[in-house]
Amino acid sequence: MPFLVHNILIGLEESEEAVLAAAAKRLRVPRDAIRSYAIVQRSLDARRNRPRFCYQIEIGLDEPIPLQRKRLKHLGRNEAVWIESKDPVVPQAGRNPLSERPVIIGFGPAGMFAALRLAEFGYKPLVLERGRDVRRRHRDVLQKFYREGIFDESSNLLFGEGGAGTYSDGKLYTRVRDPLCRVVLETFYQFGADPDILINSRPHIGSDRLPTICMKIRRHIEGLGGEIRFGCRVEDIKIEDGTLTALCLACSEPAATHEWLAVGPVILAVGHSARDTIRMLHGRGVPIVPKPFQIGVRIEHPQTMVDGWQYGSAAGHRRLGPAEYHLIAKGAGGERGNVFSFCMCPGGMILPSNESAGLIATNGASNARRSAPFANSGLVITVDPAALGPLPAGGSQDSSKGASVALRAMAFQEQWERLAFEATGQTYRVPAQRASDFLADRKSDGVLETSYPLGGQWVDLREIVPRFVHTAVKRALSILDAQLPGFAGSEGLVTAPETRASAPFRIVRDPATRESVGASNLYPAGEGAGYAGGIVSAAADGIKTADVIIARYAPLR
Ligand SMILES: Cc1cc2nc3c(=O)[nH]c(=O)nc-3n(C[C@H](O)[C@H](O)[C@H](O)COP(=O)(O)OP(=O)(O)OC[C@H]3O[C@@H](n4cnc5c(N)ncnc54)[C@H](O)[C@@H]3O)c2cc1C
Repeated sequence: MPFLVHNILIGLEESEEAVLAAAAKRLRVPRDAIRSYAIVQRSLDARRNRPRFCYQIEIGLDEPIPLQRKRLKHLGRNEAVWIESKDPVVPQAGRNPLSERPVIIGFGPAGMFAALRLAEFGYKPLVLERGRDVRRRHRDVLQKFYREGIFDESSNLLFGEGGAGTYSDGKLYTRVRDPLCRVVLETFYQFGADPDILINSRPHIGSDRLPTICMKIRRHIEGLGGEIRFGCRVEDIKIEDGTLTALCLACSEPAATHEWLAVGPVILAVGHSARDTIRMLHGRGVPIVPKPFQIGVRIEHPQTMVDGWQYGSAAGHRRLGPAEYHLIAKGAGGERGNVFSFCMCPGGMILPSNESAGLIATNGASNARRSAPFANSGLVITVDPAALGPLPAGGSQDSSKGASVALRAMAFQEQWERLAFEATGQTYRVPAQRASDFLADRKSDGVLETSYPLGGQWVDLREIVPRFVHTAVKRALSILDAQLPGFAGSEGLVTAPETRASAPFRIVRDPATRESVGASNLYPAGEGAGYAGGIVSAAADGIKTADVIIARYAPLR
């Protein structure tokens, strides 16, 4: 199908047939000249409070190719383009013998997709994951943590089968332009995601569906000869003559063991929450450099307010889902630039995203139907680790001693998270303040309603976010309230701290070999390595890293 027809706008009540009729009209052919079609993308255009659907569609016509090409002469590039079919990227297996099967540390999106790729090409990878499998993880999170307030350091919303991706919102869009992103979407579909993710411009799975999908992918990897060891934390590494040669494993399953494992190539896909592991790598001389990261707050509103802002009088229409927004408060951060919304979750909930006991960090997610009565999103600012002020008082300063700027930024995040935990009386309730009180610098009172599963507690948020963040968010609230009336009113609930939007460090790798520049055999990948941000880009990075190993080594017999 050589034509890609863009920007076909149709009304909320119109059917797919209206899209085809509009495409035929655009190409100046009768409707029945369309031999084949595939909807490539569907988005919602809600500008001017007049929501319409916008389609991109591939069209094949019943006429010779030269004639079809001629049709493009009448059309601008934003109306239709000619597309050549692209072959999927398929790696060719290399010849070097492997001494050991490839090992992957971490079973989040990066590790999982790397393992899947290696398994599909016959490499039978071994995955080491510190957390538990999805079934037990579910109990640890929903029963122990949410109901009893008991936080498990090895099995939580960040650690375990599927990594941070499992209980994430499952929004599958990314700014990364790579054909592998399509492979990732097709894989999610193959293992149970809704086919809509293949065409929606803002595909979304939902945290109620992701656990089963992760489990199915794991079983498939196992069926291909891969092995996943849960409850198995990589505690230390051995680098000899510039090559990674062994991993020290602290395992709790099936029995508690502590052993060294000789290794060949190792993909390091530990995410950006495993601060102990990052510190260990730094201590072993693996080069880590600082990179800009985001910090801020998370704001929650009733979903009906957001629907009203975005859809106007069309709010509540049966074909419209809960409305989303993407906001930028220009210049609100002063010399640090804009404050912007991050990970907006319509019909969602605010979630505890701490990786250790005694910390609080926020993030957001939603179920597939996005049916919760609240909408939330991060309001964050980008920070250069080199320009951070002093670490907050009251926390331990030890972690910054002698450490690099990158590790100091990590300690900075951690100490604000600890202050948040202290401010709520060492509970895991989320510190909160009404947006109107945040602007007026006064503590809120009255009934606190939030989607956060452990409930909230009124706190003056000046105590638990850096001063520059507080100032920037205040300015942002005023700017956004002028655009969306009530955004900074008493129905807006500000929670904090939002510290885990991205990693403040990058584990430096050679761009060609993808190995750490400090240790051959060590392949940093995914968000923790600082080369991805989000599920799809982390998964694509995992696949690419697996491809480098495939291209270099022959599969084990
Ligand atoms: C609540 C929430 C909502 C989110 N929503 C979205 C969203 O909608 N869309 C989106 O694109 N992104 C979202 N994200 C971010 C997304 O989840 C991450 O970008 C993604 O999971 C990163 O993948 P990763 O594989 O690089 O790392 P991770 O998913 O962090 O996985 C790393 C894995 O490594 C394991 N590990 C760490 N250290 C060790 C060790 N020493 N030994 C053994 N195992 C180890 C961890 O247990 C973990 O399972 C969300 C995150 C959260 C927390």
